[in-house]
Amino acid sequence: MIPYKHEPFTDFTIEENKNDYLKALKQVEEYLGQDYPLIIGGERITTEGKLVSTNPANKEEVIGRVSKASRDLAEKAMTIADETFNTWRKVKPEFRADVLFKAAAIVRRRKHEFSALLTKEAGKPWNEADADTAEGIDFLEYYARQMLDLKEGVPVESRPGEYNRFDYIPLGVGVVISPWNFAFAIMAGTTAAALVTGNTVLLKPASTTPVIAYKFMEVLEEAGMPAGVVNYIPGSGSEIGDYLVDHPRTRFVSFTGSREVGTRIFERASKVNEGQIWLKRVIAEMGGKDTMVVDNDADLELAAQSIVKSSFGFSGQKCSACSRAVIHEDVYDQVVARIEELTKELTYGDPTDDTNFTGPVVDQAAFDKIMGYIEIGKTEGRLIAGGVGDDSKGFFIAPTVIADLDPMARIMQEEIFGPVVALAKAKTFTEAIEIANNTDYGLTGAVITNNRFHIEQAREDFHAGNLYFNRGCTGAIVGYQPFGGFNMSGTDSKAGGPDYLQLHMQGKTTSETL
Ligand code: GLU
Repeated sequence: MIPYKHEPFTDFTIEENKNDYLKALKQVEEYLGQDYPLIIGGERITTEGKLVSTNPANKEEVIGRVSKASRDLAEKAMTIADETFNTWRKVKPEFRADVLFKAAAIVRRRKHEFSALLTKEAGKPWNEADADTAEGIDFLEYYARQMLDLKEGVPVESRPGEYNRFDYIPLGVGVVISPWNFAFAIMAGTTAAALVTGNTVLLKPASTTPVIAYKFMEVLEEAGMPAGVVNYIPGSGSEIGDYLVDHPRTRFVSFTGSREVGTRIFERASKVNEGQIWLKRVIAEMGGKDTMVVDNDADLELAAQSIVKSSFGFSGQKCSACSRAVIHEDVYDQVVARIEELTKELTYGDPTDDTNFTGPVVDQAAFDKIMGYIEIGKTEGRLIAGGVGDDSKGFFIAPTVIADLDPMARIMQEEIFGPVVALAKAKTFTEAIEIANNTDYGLTGAVITNNRFHIEQAREDFHAGNLYFNRGCTGAIVGYQPFGGFNMSGTDSKAGGPDYLQLHMQGKTTSETL
């Protein structure tokens, strides 16, 4: 077996790669606007009600019309997933892993097509879309290998005359509710982890990005996944989301998305409903209010560059995005001036044009919410870059910087999920770490410093699931930087980490007297 290594990113300065991407965009354009059915037990089901997926950079452009599952169809999918579990759980782990390996190979061959679809459906600039597809491939490759490592169980001791084993067995039917911001990577990763461990899946992709998830279903089928193992049921949260979370046959829920929806799922899943014979498990990856700290002894150019990149990559629509920077007072003015300069140089617009650094935000609701926060920010601090938006054609917001904020200001505390960064000053490094810890979240963070004592101090005291030194706070790589956060950022379920698959299984001890 080839050891795991992460999928390389595409270098778009190479003419050939650039042309291939342009070709892929053309290819995707040819199939825009099609209808997509649900897939339940392998059967294609078309419904009257549709989710219309549109291009956030061009509202008029329809990416696809996707059938919407009703409660009855959600129930049908549950029945099929429940039945299929009886056979799938007995299928050898090698078979399940092979489905993932093959799926990874298929996506790798069609990499630019998948990325180009993300550019269209999610508004991702080329390099961000390329990273999203690469991460999806990584999840498939990584979890497949991990399942092979776990298939013999974990060794335990046996006394003479006794044979003990400790094996992991699957849980049952999992409801996977995936986000739009990593519409391929996280959707594919959470689905793959659930299925490779022997569970069956009801996949409810984000309503804004259901087409890429349909494409992934086709890949899984081509890779040999039996019918009924993953069932594709896009639909509304209020109509089928709650219904499936509450369902007595749901064994676990794997959710990535907002804190609001995540806590709702957590609460609902904690209730034992009639006919339910287990306590449901919830794997939740929610928001962040991620902080980059700049020390007085630091590479200030690196600090400004990293803050700008982590704040505005994919328009800040990552739960890992830098949403605030806390800068030592000795270097505050200098770093803020450089952040201002760099931000004003950024270009934004249609992401199919690769000269744009970033594209739109995802939809009208996001646009309105972010613009609302910018207004709040203007009253709380000093607007030094951006501050404007235009939703006439797509949902475009200029990369925005607000400086001189009180650590308790709303835009220093609340997740915005857009291209807005809040800046505050600290008197000492210790105070900067205290500010970094002063929110409800604990997902990512970064420290820019040349001081090794401060690195160690932050390693102990900066309470973030993913803490980075002398770099930005986004871009965790599967198998290298397991990803997940503390406190209201979720259940610290580390996606792409060594203990992620176990969250989808339960340990069974067997002991035989010889
Ligand atoms: N894993 C991604 C990163 O490290 C962020 C995932 C997310 O935003 O949901 O940048």
